[in-house]
Amino acid sequence: MTAKLIDGLALSKTLRADVAARAAALTARGHQPGLAVVLVGDNPASEVYVRNKVKACEDNGLYSSYDRYPATLSEADLLARIDALNRDSRIHGILVQLPLPAHIDSHKVIEAIAPEKDVDGFHVANAGALMTGKPLFRPCTPYGVMKMFEAYGIELQGANAVVIGRSNIVGKPMAMMLIDAGATVTVCHSKTRDLAAHARAADIVVAATGRRNLLTADMVKPGATVIDVGMNRDEAGKLCGDVDFAGVSTVAGHITPVPGGVGPMTITMLLVNTIEAAERAANEA
Ligand code: NDP
Repeated sequence: MTAKLIDGLALSKTLRADVAARAAALTARGHQPGLAVVLVGDNPASEVYVRNKVKACEDNGLYSSYDRYPATLSEADLLARIDALNRDSRIHGILVQLPLPAHIDSHKVIEAIAPEKDVDGFHVANAGALMTGKPLFRPCTPYGVMKMFEAYGIELQGANAVVIGRSNIVGKPMAMMLIDAGATVTVCHSKTRDLAAHARAADIVVAATGRRNLLTADMVKPGATVIDVGMNRDEAGKLCGDVDFAGVSTVAGHITPVPGGVGPMTITMLLVNTIEAAERAANEA
């Protein structure tokens, strides 16, 4: 392996120490930061994500409430719960784990969250504000990737960046943050012609597709930085990303592993966003 590993676990540890210190300072002022996590249904992957988020709160001195509802919960009841959380002064961040069951309109649910508690950064007010450069919250996954670039001194100004994936939660906000940082950004997706040619021209590749082994060594420019957002399972049920790690790590300059890369950073940035929400609320109190 020639690539330098971008260690999301180690970076998370450093950032979470800061989160814990800020949480303690807020708690001492009578404003313990609080995150409400809402899960509807019994998607096993979602259950794991939610458990990890609640545990990260507990480990770092944040208060958390965890609402688990059956898949049969009505949209109206979910909206009523969000309304109650919007009014609850102990709660500074609200996270509704996606995907929601098909009978619930996710868009409507996200828009029901008060923008100042929208720690996922998915509300149209925050997504729109990201376009103009001043969101209250940045979506946690691309925000965490930006922290990785910063921590590892990856030059973004003038860099050619390729983002593979155009979802509202990863690909699009990732592209926006890279543009803001001065990169020249290409967004690829399932309709892209000749993905390999785009990827090969890139100094930075962010893969966020959910397709195992999508990015192989022949698609990567020597020395490029490769960020693997994907979370997939191999035949043995082992967690893996979108990048052929064994092959690509012989070509890339920097690479994130899966697990231990973007995943922990996503949760860390959720904590950071919640702390910022709590600090804003405390300063206004
Ligand atoms: P979506 O399914 O919403 O989006 C996937 C994107 O990948 C789409 O834009 C799709 O294109 C594109 N795509 C699919 N197949 C190809 C292909 N063969 N070539 C090029 N592009 C392709 O997923 P998310 O953005 O929500 O998540 C992406 C991955 O990241 C998933 O594995 C998810 O589990 C993981 N994830 C990880 C997180 C973490 O913390 N590590 C957090 C969030 C997500 P099109 O739009 O044309 O369909």
